[in-house]
Amino acid sequence: MAPAEFGRLEVAVRVVRGWWPAGQAQAWGPAGRAQAWGPAGQVPGWWRAVLVIGLLAVGGCASTVSAPTPPRQGLHHEVRSGENLYRIGKAYGVSHQELARVNGLADADHLFVGQRIFVPGAARALPVGVITAERAVPDAPGAGELPRGEGVFVWPLARGSVTSRFGPRGNSHHDGIDIGAPIGTVVRAARDGTVVYSDVLRGYGNVVIIEHVGGFVTVYAHHSENLVREGRRVRQSEVIARVGRTGRTTGPNLHFEIRKDNVARNPVYFLPTETATHEKDPST
Ligand SMILES: [Zn+2]
Repeated sequence: MAPAEFGRLEVAVRVVRGWWPAGQAQAWGPAGRAQAWGPAGQVPGWWRAVLVIGLLAVGGCASTVSAPTPPRQGLHHEVRSGENLYRIGKAYGVSHQELARVNGLADADHLFVGQRIFVPGAARALPVGVITAERAVPDAPGAGELPRGEGVFVWPLARGSVTSRFGPRGNSHHDGIDIGAPIGTVVRAARDGTVVYSDVLRGYGNVVIIEHVGGFVTVYAHHSENLVREGRRVRQSEVIARVGRTGRTTGPNLHFEIRKDNVARNPVYFLPTETATHEKDPST
């Protein structure tokens, strides 16, 4: 039983027993009307019965007309360094326009650290800095940016074609590539690393984020299931998840990102040259 309902029942019992101290009536909300009658000891018996029925009725339909409007579901996210409405929205699966609207923000570009942003529908606070890239850079990496050696990154799926490329997508940005594959296909770590996030998010569905040496991070999303937990050390090509269609996606596919120093890069530049099993990204 919710505390508020317990409170109403207790009020009802007090009214019946004549314990009602008039001075406290207002604190109980709907029962505040009782104050008009003064101390409960003076309330006639039949009026008490009416009041009790009324109080119990309010308790039985707390979310309908009789009760005060409950606070909208969601939570307040505290803005951290480097975050903006766009990134916060991406992490929580809410558009930045919607966040600006519900928070009455005229200047959505200028948040301050510590500012509290209401996120409708959110159930728990999320590490926005881990989940989302700070920005995206479309250019091919310079010679010094590519990690040395062959096969530093491998394709996360043994086969499949790129169905959606890296780059602008409507008024948003696709920070990775989508690789189409049947549901249940195993997803493999692109490189040795440590799992820093493994959970479900509204937009990404089941998502795994792996941190690698050299400031690199890889992101894998829309899984039917994640097979690794946060904190787990994984080896390159180790199975970490299965392809699915959770989150916002049009069909079964793997959403895959590579970030360097939390900037999203086009993964195809970092992966081995496509073979027959990986059709060429149409953007390159
Ligand atoms: Zn995607």
